[in-house]
Amino acid sequence: MIVTKPVVAIVGRPNVGKSTIFNRIVGERVAIVEDLPGVTRDRLYSKGEWLNHEFYVIDTGGIELGDEPLLVQMRQQAEIAIDEANVIIFMVNGREGITAADQEVANMLFRSKKPVVLAVNKVDNPDMRELLYEFYSLGAGEPYGISGSHGLGIGDLLDEVVRHFPEENDDDYADDTIKMALIGRPNVGKSSLVNALLGEERVIVSQIPGTTRDAIDTSFTRDGQHYVVIDTAGMRKRGKVYEATEKYSVLRSLKAIERSDVVLVVLDGEEGIIEQDKKIAGYAHEAGRAIVIVVNKWDAVKKDDKTMQTFVEDIRSEFQFLSYAPICFLSAKTKQRLHLLLPEVRKVSESHHLRVPTHVLNDMIMDAVAMNPTPTDKGKRLKINYVTQVAVQPPTFVFFVNEPELMHFSYRRFLENRLRATFEFEGTPIHIIARKKN
Ligand code: GDP
Ligand code: GDP
Repeated sequence: MIVTKPVVAIVGRPNVGKSTIFNRIVGERVAIVEDLPGVTRDRLYSKGEWLNHEFYVIDTGGIELGDEPLLVQMRQQAEIAIDEANVIIFMVNGREGITAADQEVANMLFRSKKPVVLAVNKVDNPDMRELLYEFYSLGAGEPYGISGSHGLGIGDLLDEVVRHFPEENDDDYADDTIKMALIGRPNVGKSSLVNALLGEERVIVSQIPGTTRDAIDTSFTRDGQHYVVIDTAGMRKRGKVYEATEKYSVLRSLKAIERSDVVLVVLDGEEGIIEQDKKIAGYAHEAGRAIVIVVNKWDAVKKDDKTMQTFVEDIRSEFQFLSYAPICFLSAKTKQRLHLLLPEVRKVSESHHLRVPTHVLNDMIMDAVAMNPTPTDKGKRLKINYVTQVAVQPPTFVFFVNEPELMHFSYRRFLENRLRATFEFEGTPIHIIARKKN
């Protein structure tokens, strides 16, 4: 089962130290994240970890909200945090005292009833702890004195944050339900596609449970299979000012990816591929979800007998990291080729859940090694002792070896290719972990 990680948002005026803290929390992890060619990374949304809790952190200050006055921007940031986060870190500057904007944000957060942890930053030494008292009057609970630049108090702050995490993930869809998210930039046709799917014959739309404040998931059954479309807000409930900003729409997609099993990366067949498409798809890959690439608006494309092939080649070269994802050309508007989509979704979901018996796996790896001997480095040869699949969603394989460092990227890729050639892993990433055999 996929576990949804809690989201922590940092809200506060400019210059109180939000990005300093954000970097402290996620800093070391960002550096080790696999680099995907062509994917630019925002630092406003990243993974953090504390006491065995994994979570996401958003720096709402990183979402540029245009030239609005400070108070308006602060309100929008607070609204984003309230919509998106399970816990909010409200950050103020201990050296400046309470400002009108702080008070405004505090009131908004208070009304939302979301758990808030008040962080008073720039308390760089113990003598400055007296500064904390005045912040009780914000009504946001106990102030935690921290120093982002000196790295003080952050452990206590995170202890308190983690205490507010929800017990379990919040949706209780049956295990055999395929949760799918349609992601893509505005206007590629995500909502049209959802409506087209729901409007199809033989589709039974059974319920519309609300999950978070804004999201409306839709569940339906087709040919005996249950599906849930995870709402990427902006899909149905449009209207908030900040929803048009690119970074916010990326953030929304990330939340939907996080809650889904299968991600449909929707592209606009008429307009082709742009940078933002790659960024969003990169997150789906990193999150380890099953993926189908959908080229929508196929009705509007002038075609000859090579058009589809050329488009496939473009996708393969622009999205090299998604070489495993099937591509579906269709039109939400005319429903042309629409019937091809759900079978594809089902197939990639099966790949995502596929388990290979250990003996079959080890036989296959022995054959692979015989075909392409393991690499050597400084006179030492990689020796694979044993392989076992430790997880599904995505399929994850642990290779017990003599020296994990000898498992170079190219050999890893070779093993992945052999796994793909031997078993039905279309549409799912595969994780390969090398571990030292003791
Ligand atoms: P943001 O705009 O809220 O993201 O704030 P930044 O993280 O960019 O920090 C604003 C300024 O405050 C920078 O010059 C930081 O070096 C400084 N700063 C951040 N944390 C601390 C701290 O704990 N103590 C002191 N003295 N300065 C800090
Ligand atoms: P979203 O922002 O990704 O949810 O996109 P929408 O579903 O709102 O669609 C954006 C625009 O593209 C609308 O004007 C739709 O009518 C149009 N559109 C959506 N799907 C198709 C399609 O398959 N073919 C054509 N020609 N237009 C489409």
